[in-house]
Amino acid sequence: MRVFNTITRKKEEFKPINNNHINMYVCGPTVYDLFHIGNARTFVVFDVVRRYFEYKGYTVKFVQNFTDIDDKIINKANENDEDIFKVSEKYIWEYYKDAENLHIKRATINPKATENINEMIFLIDELVKNDYAYESNGDVYFNISSFKEYGKLFGQDIKTLKAGSRIQINKDKKDPLDFILWKKAKDGEPYYESPWGNGRPGWHTECCAMIGKYFKGETIDIHGGGFDLIFPHHENEIAQREVLINKPLANYWMHCSFLNINKEKMSKSLGNFFTTREIVEKYSGNILRFFLLSSHYRNELCFSEDQLVWSNKSLSRIFNAYKFLDIYEEESKVKNIKERRYIDDINKFKDKFIEKMDDDFNTSDGISVIFEFVKFINAYGENFTEEDRVYAKNIFNEFFSVLGIEFEEDNQCRELSEEVREMIKTRWECKRERDFSSADKIRDSLLSLGIVLEDIPKGVRVVNSKDNRIIDTILY
Ligand code: AMP
Ligand code: ZN
Repeated sequence: MRVFNTITRKKEEFKPINNNHINMYVCGPTVYDLFHIGNARTFVVFDVVRRYFEYKGYTVKFVQNFTDIDDKIINKANENDEDIFKVSEKYIWEYYKDAENLHIKRATINPKATENINEMIFLIDELVKNDYAYESNGDVYFNISSFKEYGKLFGQDIKTLKAGSRIQINKDKKDPLDFILWKKAKDGEPYYESPWGNGRPGWHTECCAMIGKYFKGETIDIHGGGFDLIFPHHENEIAQREVLINKPLANYWMHCSFLNINKEKMSKSLGNFFTTREIVEKYSGNILRFFLLSSHYRNELCFSEDQLVWSNKSLSRIFNAYKFLDIYEEESKVKNIKERRYIDDINKFKDKFIEKMDDDFNTSDGISVIFEFVKFINAYGENFTEEDRVYAKNIFNEFFSVLGIEFEEDNQCRELSEEVREMIKTRWECKRERDFSSADKIRDSLLSLGIVLEDIPKGVRVVNSKDNRIIDTILY
């Protein structure tokens, strides 16, 4: 297997530290809101990395943190006059719900920052005692000049970083690039006691302390996250850990490129995002997942609803080929079983899929192989023997399990067609004109299409009659 390693900027032969076990850590969400489909891309990509290792026979210890204390969570709690721990607890459960609907496997451990405060204080204390960090006016900073290799992940030395840095001058820091390890408590914010007074640890220390704790101080195989975490977050993790342990924090650094919308990174702060929840409700977990995996994880991916419609159609084609294998099975009971056997041909698709995935988890090319397999089944499936059919279905199941796709008998896109939208609008107009009998007729026609309308102030909620999912909320 070959993996692109951000720190060497090369695709490298993957060599695990232990023969058949992988230790990996992926930075998780800050829990102050529902996660958007940009975050979902990173989570789904690393879920596939993990699934693929498991498919290849490795056991995987997968640790992903929850940042459950942070300025954003505190602001959200203050805005709504809520307890900050209630806010973070709520969004942890919302995360689990959305992740499950996107078929993301539960991590082996999901540690919370607040459960690891002592570990973080211990780490900061070690850094201060060894002169890698200093206290200044109640805050503690890491002194980047104490780590000569600072910048090695990002690929720039300290001098270049300084020249390009737009970090504001802070009189408490010895160097503008020094980063905060411990923040002095502000009025009204939760705090913990420490040797430097009341305060709370900074975000960069969180992942570093957790990796130390949950992997017992050993170098891990893979550390992952989105592109935006390369600098400064992961650079700072390396600095804190490697000055103390004198060995790499991780052997392979993997970073997932952005999901963009209108050529900009999808992000909460730009307000250009869709939540995973709304997209899964409107389409489905399978459809969103298929779209997120349709591009290689190191390429940018552009969001548009057309792409989701394409994913829906693609999945239907794949699921239809899978279903046809059953239909052929029924038919073959009356037909003579053909002589020709297709096991070798089928195996070629499996080998090709593995070859693509072995090449830095190329899901995009892997999906192309699945399409070739579908074509093959559509052309020759009716001649398959019983054994061929079972074998082909198993191969499909293997592809699905690696990509986290769950076969659906009825892969219906939950998007409304223009025609149905028109009907809903006409019914609304009929109601406004007090023509209730026409309005009811339209409502009944929609019901026969599996669509239930629920009136709400100034509009209507459109619900799927089969599974009660909300398809859309339309306001007039
Ligand atoms: P956050 O909750 O903002 O810390 O983000 C959680 C994860 O999602 C991090 O690994 C981010 O790098 C990643 N992420 C955020 N926005 C995007 C995006 N637009 N595309 C891909 N990954 C993203
Ligand atoms: Zn992290």
